[in-house]
Amino acid sequence: MSLALSKQNKVNRPNIYTCLSLFFLLVFFSNQVAAANNIDGIRVWPAPENTRIVFDVKQKPDYSYFTLTNPNRLVIDFKQTKNTVALKKLAANDPRVKLFRASYRKGKTRLVLELAKSYQLTVFPLPPAGQYGNRLVVDLYDKKNKERQESELQSKNKSGDIIIGIDAGHGGEDPGSIGHKGTHEKRVTLAIAKKLQSQINNEKGMKAVMIRTGDYYVNLNRRTSLAREKHVDFLVSIHADAFRTSVPHGASVWVVTKRRAESELSKWLINREKKSELLGGGGGVIKNTQDNHLALALADMSKEHSLDVSFGVGNKIIKELKKITKMHKKTPQSGNFAVLKSSDIPSILVETGFISNHREEKNLTWSKHQARLANAIHLGIKNYFMTYPLTGSYFASLSYKGYKSYKVRRGESLSMLAQRYNVSITKLKSMNDLKSNALKIGQTLKVPHNS
Ligand SMILES: [Zn+2]
Repeated sequence: MSLALSKQNKVNRPNIYTCLSLFFLLVFFSNQVAAANNIDGIRVWPAPENTRIVFDVKQKPDYSYFTLTNPNRLVIDFKQTKNTVALKKLAANDPRVKLFRASYRKGKTRLVLELAKSYQLTVFPLPPAGQYGNRLVVDLYDKKNKERQESELQSKNKSGDIIIGIDAGHGGEDPGSIGHKGTHEKRVTLAIAKKLQSQINNEKGMKAVMIRTGDYYVNLNRRTSLAREKHVDFLVSIHADAFRTSVPHGASVWVVTKRRAESELSKWLINREKKSELLGGGGGVIKNTQDNHLALALADMSKEHSLDVSFGVGNKIIKELKKITKMHKKTPQSGNFAVLKSSDIPSILVETGFISNHREEKNLTWSKHQARLANAIHLGIKNYFMTYPLTGSYFASLSYKGYKSYKVRRGESLSMLAQRYNVSITKLKSMNDLKSNALKIGQTLKVPHNS
């Protein structure tokens, strides 16, 4: 183009400025045609098992990629695309990508990711969702050696601790709900989860396992398979609600069912879960199929039991939550959530409040309130497993410590004593051969020794 132009210049001798501006106009125009797409943003989300790299692209990406060894590199060619993102500091906090480099030739941007070693990788585009436009996603997964994987699956818990899986909702690309003041649900859920983790780990007989420990997304299937691999006895998924209007408020507890969602709120929540997968997930290519088979088999055997436990713990948690926050629903609600679907593991989902409600958004970011919410969840779980201890657990050993006698005082009821001694009303009645719930002042009862 420029050659033809300069030849023409010599013949016609037009004004130099006209020529220059024509030249720049042509260069500009040809670039516009060649590079129709733009890379407008790049996000790097390091996680324990993988790193997710997300490229924001103006339009649906036209791309190809290949890997090189010595040193390990991933090369991605974005056709008809310009990069507008500074690459220098992108890899600063990631253990898997050492450096991003880019070159631009003939309308094509070639991005080279220098890698720490060789990874299992998936590359896929995502259509616009929520606050995001078109994206290209690269997942670099650590290669697991098979022996380690098997030993992880087989190492059983023999400590007598009940293992509580704590799943902080959302993370990474998926912010969850966003409050009016800009509070991201993913941060609130992680803060509460971390507080719950330390409370549980300070409790003799309980051990916490975090499903997510930082700001990254774990897809919903992986959340439940992680819980299974870590021999979780009970899984609690922590969320903060949001609605179209700022009016709804209060906490609620959700339990999975196979039934179709009935209430408007449960439909809303399930849709939001789907949105999470669009925002943060979309991968799910690498799955542990062997584990899924196992899960299916177990699920059929223990569905009933697992649902009982889920409802039981749900009720205990609601009882504690009521003391510190308004409740949106006073009984456990049921919905068909993917994160609760591992029905071999009893699970609940706690909506800690509405981030779309102005006052609750403020409370949810308040560390003291987060600690109270964590404490309510902690006590709810503990009370349930003290009352119905798992065979072989530390809590079970406590309940075999025998009985002591107790004299009933004025104003005390059977349900009060059952709660105080962490035993069910039914059990207290059978221990004492009681036919009714009525107690007399001064009556002597057998109560568990583990007060
Ligand atoms: Zn959520």
